[in-house]
Amino acid sequence: MSFADLGLTPELLRAVAEQGYSEPTPIQAQAIPVVLAGRDVLAAAQTGTGKTAGFTLPILQRLQPGANNSPSPARHPLRALILTPTRELADQVADSVKVYSKYLPLRSTVAFGGVNIDSQIPALRAGVELLVATPGRLLDHVQQKTVVLNRVDILVMDEADRMLDMGFLPDIRRIISLLPPERQTLLFSATFSPEIKKLADQFLRSPQVIEVARRNSTNEQVTLVVHQVDGFRKRSTLAHLIRHHQMQQVIVFCNTRQGAERLSRELARDGFAAEAIHGDKTQQQRLETLAQFKEGKVKVLVATDVAARGLDIEDLPFVVNYEIPNTPEDFVHRIGRTGRAGATGTAISLVGDDETKQLAAIEKLVKKTLELAPVPGYATARPATGASSAPIGSALMSSGRAAEPVRPLYPGMSPRQPEQQIAALFLPPRYQRTS
Ligand code: AMP
Repeated sequence: MSFADLGLTPELLRAVAEQGYSEPTPIQAQAIPVVLAGRDVLAAAQTGTGKTAGFTLPILQRLQPGANNSPSPARHPLRALILTPTRELADQVADSVKVYSKYLPLRSTVAFGGVNIDSQIPALRAGVELLVATPGRLLDHVQQKTVVLNRVDILVMDEADRMLDMGFLPDIRRIISLLPPERQTLLFSATFSPEIKKLADQFLRSPQVIEVARRNSTNEQVTLVVHQVDGFRKRSTLAHLIRHHQMQQVIVFCNTRQGAERLSRELARDGFAAEAIHGDKTQQQRLETLAQFKEGKVKVLVATDVAARGLDIEDLPFVVNYEIPNTPEDFVHRIGRTGRAGATGTAISLVGDDETKQLAAIEKLVKKTLELAPVPGYATARPATGASSAPIGSALMSSGRAAEPVRPLYPGMSPRQPEQQIAALFLPPRYQRTS
């Protein structure tokens, strides 16, 4: 199947061709015709599936009849609104919108918090057909009357589960109350909690349910490894694993901003090119760190869940859960950072003795026991001495023994395609695709 088969216009096909995409991803193949037909969509899809183009391309096409080159703001009413949980995701989606709308006379902009609101006003005042925004900042603009929502006929909620986790539900309700009731609504979520289901029931009209595995899932290889490690030994184990696996690019997840900051400093002291990305950093700092990570100047990115949300990093080979997330859904989001775009990926979790509860919650969510594997290169017996700051002894690293094979997470699943199974697991039966 080609993009042309999906009924996209030449302007969009040209922009897509320039990106070098040869064929649509599964979510694009499924979502584009449905969105073009004007239907609501409820999609189980993570970052990495190509979902952004899956909703952006057909939206741009639906906006086209009204597209014009007039300089008058009145001729450019806001017609499509894309809500995202984080600044980073808003920025990435807005970039995609710019790329795909390159040959269309449509205007778009982005609005997120953490930066001066005044810098966002000129573009909004000039008039945009499409706005990508985080909920809080959007409401600030609504209050300042720099955004009017009464002509929006397409609403996208991207990473809706994360928006709810972040407490945006009241903001979302308020925003939706300002939109015309006659509109098209698309909801994308990596997981399907009862709250998401409720949101969908309330705001979507007979949605087409779309459920996909991540891009190139057949080639995809995500290996899940769980090591049990005493809390005080976690840092030395992490340092050992970075060296043992010769990690050139890894995201290490911590549960708190303070923990992420501390760990990145300690790793930097240990000689690793490590930086932290979390909510206490300014937007500018976060974007700079991300750019350095993408360039390879920063090799270890220590992140909180919120800061890492929606990051699009190609070919990320390793993800480490330094701390086990308190919300089991975050585990799914975290491991979804690796093994993308057909590359191999390994997600390593370091489980402390005090984290068995969180692990149990994850096991309950994924309905499977997670097997513990010995730390590769360590002697099987835990070393009796050594504080977290102790250097990694060469004796501990000498055996070079590979990790034990990891059992698949779910019954009947190959460990190479966990994401596919995860998407299916989170969909309640009435949302399972029947076709
Ligand atoms: P997303 O899931 O929207 O974050 O997209 C993940 C990555 O896939 C992005 O880097 C896109 O540029 C890329 N991508 C999207 N669609 C395609 C496609 N049809 N073929 C190849 N790459 C794609």
